[in-house]
Amino acid sequence: RKGTAVITGASSGLGLATAKALADTGKWHVIMACRNFLKAEKAAKTVGMSKEDYTVMHLDLASLESVKQFVDNYRRTERPLDVLVCNAAVYQPTAKEPSFTAEGFELSVGTNHLGHFLLSKLLLDDLKKSDYPSKRMIIVGSITGNTNTLAGNVPPKANLGDLRGLASGLNGQNSSMIDGGEYDGAKAYKDSKVCNMLTMQELHRRYHEETGVTFASLYPGCIATTGLFREHVPLFRLLFPPFQKYITKGYVSEEEAGKRLAQVVSDPSLGKSGVYWSWNNNSSSFENQLSKEASDAEKAKKLWEVSEKLVGLA
Ligand code: NDP
Repeated sequence: RKGTAVITGASSGLGLATAKALADTGKWHVIMACRNFLKAEKAAKTVGMSKEDYTVMHLDLASLESVKQFVDNYRRTERPLDVLVCNAAVYQPTAKEPSFTAEGFELSVGTNHLGHFLLSKLLLDDLKKSDYPSKRMIIVGSITGNTNTLAGNVPPKANLGDLRGLASGLNGQNSSMIDGGEYDGAKAYKDSKVCNMLTMQELHRRYHEETGVTFASLYPGCIATTGLFREHVPLFRLLFPPFQKYITKGYVSEEEAGKRLAQVVSDPSLGKSGVYWSWNNNSSSFENQLSKEASDAEKAKKLWEVSEKLVGLA
C-alpha cells in the first residue's frame, strides 16, 4: 500500500515542497494539515499535485483545541498514520509586542513547540498502530537555534535558561519568553526551534526502543525565499536570498529542501533514530552535531515535563 504522511504547514514553503516531492514518487498519500484550507487546496493545485495524492485537513497549531480536533478527525478517516512531519512555524522577527495562542501562550513557542508537542504525543499512538515497515516522526529543526554554528551565533541567540518563563505559563504575566527575559520575537523563534530539537531527542529516548518509530530532526538549508520571512522588513526580504546564495552559500531552493525532507520521510538510508540531519554543499546527507543546549538531555527532560503540564497532559 501507499504510505500516509501527515505534514503540518504544507500550504507553503518547505511543507508544500515536501508534499509535492512525496506525491511525485507515487508511493505516498499526503495529509496536508493546514490552518488555511483554501490556501492549501490552491497551493496543491498550483504545484500540480493530483487529487488522489493528497487530502487537506484543518489544523491550527495555535490552538490546542484545534490540535485535539485534528487528531479526532484524523482517527475518523480510519487511515493509517505512517509518518508525521512537524513542519509548520511562525517567525515574528520585527514584532515589538508578543502575541498569544488561543490558550494564551506566546505565539512562536506556542505554535512551533507546544502545538506540535501535543500533536506528537497524541499521534504517537496512531503511529504505533501502523504496520508500515519504517514509521517515522520528524520535527523540523534549524541552524538558527544551534549556537555551535555561525548562523546560530547571530544575536539574539537562542537560550532557554532554566525554563522559568515557560514554567510560569509563557502568558506574558510573568514573562512571554522561555528563559523569563524580555520579549524578543527573533529569539522566541530560535528558542522554539531548540525546543523542537530537544523534543525529538526526548521522544527518541522515551519511545524509540518500545515503538520502533524513528525520530529525527533536520536542518534543510537556508530556504531564503519561503513565507517564513514574510514579517521581516522589506529590505531584508530583498537582500536575504542573494546574501545566502553568494555570501554564506547556505542557500537552498524550496524544491531542493523539499527533496531533502522527503528523504528523511522515506529514504531507507535515513532511517536511524535520534539523528539531526544536514546536507553538505554537494547535497549529501550527514548526521550533524547539535549545540550544547540543543543536545542537553537534562534540559530536554525538564522541557518535556513542563510542556506536558502546559498542554494539559500531566
Ligand atoms: P513558511 O512560512 O513558508 O511555511 C510555514 C507554514 O507553517 C505555512 O504553511 C503556515 O501556514 C504554517 N503555519 C503557521 N502557523 C500555523 C498554525 N498556527 N497552524 C498551522 N500551520 C501554521 O516557512 P518555511 O517553509 O520556511 O518553514 C517551514 C519549516 O522550516 C519551519 O519549521 C521552519 O522553522 C523551518 N526552517 C526554515 C528555514 C528557512 O530558511 N526558510 C531554515 C530552517 C528551518 P500558512 O500558509 O497558512 O501561513
